[in-house]
Amino acid sequence: MGDERQAALDAIADEVRTCTRCRLHEGRTKAVPGEGDPDTEVVFVGEGPGFNEDREGRPFVGRAGGMLVRLLGSVGWQREDVFITNVVKCRPPDNRDPQPDEIAACAPYLRRQLEVLDPAVVVTLGRYSMGTFMPGARIGQAHGTSQPVDPESGAANALVFAMYHPAAALRSPGVERDSFEDMRHVPSVLVRARDLREADASPTAAGATMTAAPAAAPAPEQTTVTVTGAAEPAAEDASQLTLF
Ligand code: URA
Ligand code: SF4
Repeated sequence: MGDERQAALDAIADEVRTCTRCRLHEGRTKAVPGEGDPDTEVVFVGEGPGFNEDREGRPFVGRAGGMLVRLLGSVGWQREDVFITNVVKCRPPDNRDPQPDEIAACAPYLRRQLEVLDPAVVVTLGRYSMGTFMPGARIGQAHGTSQPVDPESGAANALVFAMYHPAAALRSPGVERDSFEDMRHVPSVLVRARDLREADASPTAAGATMTAAPAAAPAPEQTTVTVTGAAEPAAEDASQLTLF
């Protein structure tokens, strides 16, 4: 599976590197298609390349990347275990926010990457990424929560989990604390996403799972789950599991 997926991801990356669909191509040094394990269950989606990413053509290699690696490490994961990409693949000038028309122009690449990867969990990093997967949500409320992903996004059967952008964690000790707390829940979101995918894969088993499920487990039809709430299984338990 990995080889076929890698080839499909490489084909998308080749298109991204020569793309001129929006004005961001004018100022880029290198486009940043994204990278990671083609067979991963978890995709992290940031905003757009910064100075260092633009020079190297790789996502999250600067200071925000260092924070992301620390966050991943706090649950025992490495960046190579997941897939990391952005909503826009070329650096906005002077690190300004990506504009709606630029996000829209670049969206087909992210959608195609998600179609290939078929992740169980999409973790959004920051407001612009969250806006793609949780339209209308506000980061102050939505961070640390998950909901089903719209299959139109390319991820056919996934939960999205919102986090602050790692650069925001670098600027504020409060956001940093919240980010580590949010990250602590990602393994249990993955466990739940796996359960939902398995239930969908075998309709008979789904019925059995629903009636046999302990009271604490959220029902599959529930659309929004507050991860910090009592319904979420203890992250400590989930992080003991081998997840990759
Ligand atoms: N910030 C992002 O949103 N993405 C990167 O790749 C690097 C910094
Ligand atoms: Fe193309 Fe996306 Fe780069 Fe715009 S940001 S030029 S759409 S790859």
